[in-house]
Amino acid sequence: MTTFSLLDRRGGKHSLIAQPGDTVASVLLRNHIPPTSVLTYSGQERIVVDDHVIDPEQTYEARLIEGYDLAGIRRLFESRDSSAAYIRRRLSVASDGALAMERAPLDLPSAAAHVDTMVRETINEFKLMSDGDRVVLGLSGGVDSGSLLMLLAAHREAEELADVQIEAATFQDFDSKWSETFDFAAALAAKHGVRHHVLEAGLAEEVFHLNRPIAQILMLLMETEDAHFAMYADHHSTRRVLEVFADRVGARKIALGLHTTDLLAGMMNAHTTGFTMGQVPSRTVGPYEYILPLAFTPKRELHLYYTHHTGHAPKQTTPNQWEFNPTDRNFYYYLADQLQWSWPGIETWMFTAHAQHAAAHPAVFKECENCGASVSLQTMADAPWAGVCDVCALLDKHGWIRH
Ligand SMILES: [Zn+2]
Repeated sequence: MTTFSLLDRRGGKHSLIAQPGDTVASVLLRNHIPPTSVLTYSGQERIVVDDHVIDPEQTYEARLIEGYDLAGIRRLFESRDSSAAYIRRRLSVASDGALAMERAPLDLPSAAAHVDTMVRETINEFKLMSDGDRVVLGLSGGVDSGSLLMLLAAHREAEELADVQIEAATFQDFDSKWSETFDFAAALAAKHGVRHHVLEAGLAEEVFHLNRPIAQILMLLMETEDAHFAMYADHHSTRRVLEVFADRVGARKIALGLHTTDLLAGMMNAHTTGFTMGQVPSRTVGPYEYILPLAFTPKRELHLYYTHHTGHAPKQTTPNQWEFNPTDRNFYYYLADQLQWSWPGIETWMFTAHAQHAAAHPAVFKECENCGASVSLQTMADAPWAGVCDVCALLDKHGWIRH
């Protein structure tokens, strides 16, 4: 029988759970110990690597090399509560620095009610919507934008914002490929009293002066050395077309279904590359205000909300080719999920800190001469402003822009 123990810096020994076939790292991780915080010894004084498969005949001791209270932190994660479908956790940090893990067991209806309250508080606290607003919502029919539609409609009703106009817009490109999702988007909008518009497939071609359909361009881009820009080009063109649609209906606000995980992943990217990121949960981009009412709603809670209100789990569509490329984007999402697990509620702290930083460094915008998008100049960009945004420069490089 393997014995695997943790030796803390005070000489205290804690026995760890180890299973046959485990590596040293998997034992440590299972016991909430970062492998980087210890050196592990086998037998007398032999140091073993994280990937070593434990030998049932041996004894192991992981010796803490860090000076923090690992045992106290591990206790925060100890729970055997399985009383509800979801346990909402928050790691609270008191003003005196004291940590506590709060746990609220929630069944499906109470998880959905919680999301509703959280979104309402986000909208009210950050003044994202007020009477008389006209808000454009990009509606794909997926879990994020579908939930956002239901939440905005519920908010409008609860706060008696009868004069708030929500204009849901679905791209026609989805029609052929995702007809089921498309029909669902239309039905959802009708059910919640939201006007639904279909943005014709040629609109992106028009706005970006393209010589072929955008869907075709994205696929072609995937065959080039610029494949890792395809998703960025997709997101940029989607947003710009929504802006042009907003102009048409006289709206200045655009609601996006970005949730906590999306925004934390973006923030990890920004903080590790030096790129600037817009404010959360609302940002001004040229003449438009983007609002992000789901900023404090993690992806998992959004799934519970959606499941409760539609009576079915969201249909998981196969990601587009370009959603797995670049791979570092996937890694930022993975990190964002890890962060939320280790520090549930970290978004509140990170977004607040980010807002203070962003307020001290206001963005400077230039207007792209091709697509008309307002582009925030990146302080780290080494090239001078070339008159067009980086997506239009990319499209032009491959000969897809009409001159
Ligand atoms: Zn452009």
